[in-house]
Amino acid sequence: MASFLASIYGTEADKVNCSFYYKIGACRHGDRCSRKHVKPNYSQTILCSNIYQNPAHLPENKLNKAQVQAHFDAFFEDFYCELSQYGELEELHVCDNMGDHLIGNVYARFKYEDAAGKAVDALNSRWYAGRPIYAELSPVTDFREACCRQYLQDDCVRGGFCNFLHPKQPSPVLKKELELSQRKYRKELRKAEGRGSRSVSRSPSPARRGGRRF
Ligand SMILES: [Zn+2]
Ligand SMILES: [Zn+2]
Repeated sequence: MASFLASIYGTEADKVNCSFYYKIGACRHGDRCSRKHVKPNYSQTILCSNIYQNPAHLPENKLNKAQVQAHFDAFFEDFYCELSQYGELEELHVCDNMGDHLIGNVYARFKYEDAAGKAVDALNSRWYAGRPIYAELSPVTDFREACCRQYLQDDCVRGGFCNFLHPKQPSPVLKKELELSQRKYRKELRKAEGRGSRSVSRSPSPARRGGRRF
């Protein structure tokens, strides 16, 4: 029985635990869900709910496509740099969904659980662009399962109200640059720790262009 329950945990067959919360870290029923949302005590993944505000979703939006992308890139860079200060960041996803439980959600997966724990503790007393940040540990482990496959092929008929993640993509050049900067930053940090010095700058990105609205 125990192994049967373990094998269906968090799947559609599990009548106790919510498969959406388990797989996607958010479910449209929220606290009123009839199945359990089991918050993890330890996780490599954190969720900052409803923090990215896509100007294209506002009725008064006057930005063109390129300006919306630049606005998003600045946001992505801000979060990437802020989060990499807590530990090695492996993935960062920002939802472009429109449903209340997914809109503007930021998911970050760290290499180590203690970095995720540190990030949650620190971020809960921080603000971004004039809004308080609500951060929590998330049960999401596999973003291939959490992301909408049709969206990744540009073909999701459910659009913004899909219940799987629609991750908005940063410009490829920016993403590559941030990954390189993080690697360089970690290398310098390890060298400095070896020397017992703390002279490395706090930001992994030396050449910031982004919005920096923390
Ligand atoms: Zn649920
Ligand atoms: Zn979708």
